[in-house]
Amino acid sequence: MIDRTIMSSTAAGYAIDLQNVTKIYHRRIHALQGVSMQVNRGEIFGLLGPNGAGKSTLVKIMVTVVRPTTARGMILGHSIGHKGTLARVGYLPENHRFPRYLTGRQVIEFFSALAKTDRSTRKKRAAELLDLVGMTAWADSKISQYSKGMLQRVGLAQALGANPDLIILDEPTDGVDPSGRRDIRQVLLHLREQGATVFINSHLLSELETVCDRVAILVGGKVARQGSVDELTAAKQCYQFELEPTPWPVIVAAFPGAFDFGAPPEPGFPTRGKLDENCWCEFDGLTLRVGHTDAAAVQPIIDALRRNNLVIRRMQLVRPSLEDLFFEAMTDPTTGQRALPGARPPPLPGAR
Ligand code: ADP
Ligand code: MG
Repeated sequence: MIDRTIMSSTAAGYAIDLQNVTKIYHRRIHALQGVSMQVNRGEIFGLLGPNGAGKSTLVKIMVTVVRPTTARGMILGHSIGHKGTLARVGYLPENHRFPRYLTGRQVIEFFSALAKTDRSTRKKRAAELLDLVGMTAWADSKISQYSKGMLQRVGLAQALGANPDLIILDEPTDGVDPSGRRDIRQVLLHLREQGATVFINSHLLSELETVCDRVAILVGGKVARQGSVDELTAAKQCYQFELEPTPWPVIVAAFPGAFDFGAPPEPGFPTRGKLDENCWCEFDGLTLRVGHTDAAAVQPIIDALRRNNLVIRRMQLVRPSLEDLFFEAMTDPTTGQRALPGARPPPLPGAR
């Protein structure tokens, strides 16, 4: 439906190439602390991170809603802030508020008009976009009558009004039910087929895992991981032992020196350690994981478990999910502490 004929002279290279972006709000809130990020043309890129990680700040800098403290970067081959380029970028802000007296169709037409699309094109395109996001039946109802999911669908359609080459979506599935989320995923895949680049912010991991070609994990204003879901998860393959419920001291005794900062793990938040120089391990009460991918290398671990009368229910080579990577990125490897939500807290009065 969207006729993608605009292929610019800058078709080569990255859609987004950010170098060392920092943002300090009010001289004390370090929301972004040197973010570098590359997004290929024609891919769906997911930026994930906990609340307050700086995701929205980063996209607001890209679309020039927020002024960075420092930033070097290119969007579609031009410096951030280049007006002509912004016209080729569609944006769905988080917590958007469209005037409630407009209908869905009027919202889409209004934003297309702002992008200087001519009247007949924007009418035609609004009808196509309403169909694409499954809102044709509600097109002429006031958005004050819409549910959150319907608002997000219209918000997505609005971002596509000017047939953009780059679509930036901040939490597009916020408040959307599972079937709506699936519909939105289909739209994103369709956009990629059309050759557009899609950048999505989300804290919903499963969301990104299924559609994104590449992801970055942002924690406390810094990029903790960046790469394809396959690359990131393959690097973290491990052997997993499912045990009968095992008291923490027994595990500590079975692997002396491995878990040396050892508070007992909280369920769902494993305690990490090192079996030796080259091999990480973690334990969460039922499951022991060790960073080996070679069956021969894990035989001594089986011996140690058996020597300590631990019962192994199952053993397998596993590839972690994006959620596992996310929690790993949020956990300080030396202390085992999880990052707190939000930017680095301001220093205490009198502290330097
Ligand atoms: P995310 O979208 O990942 O949840 P944000 O970019 O909204 O994160 O916020 C990052 C950090 O910056 C948070 O600690 C937030 O409180 C702070 N922050 C965001 N916007 C402002 C603002 N306008 N003024 C002051 N602090 C802000
Ligand atoms: Mg946000």
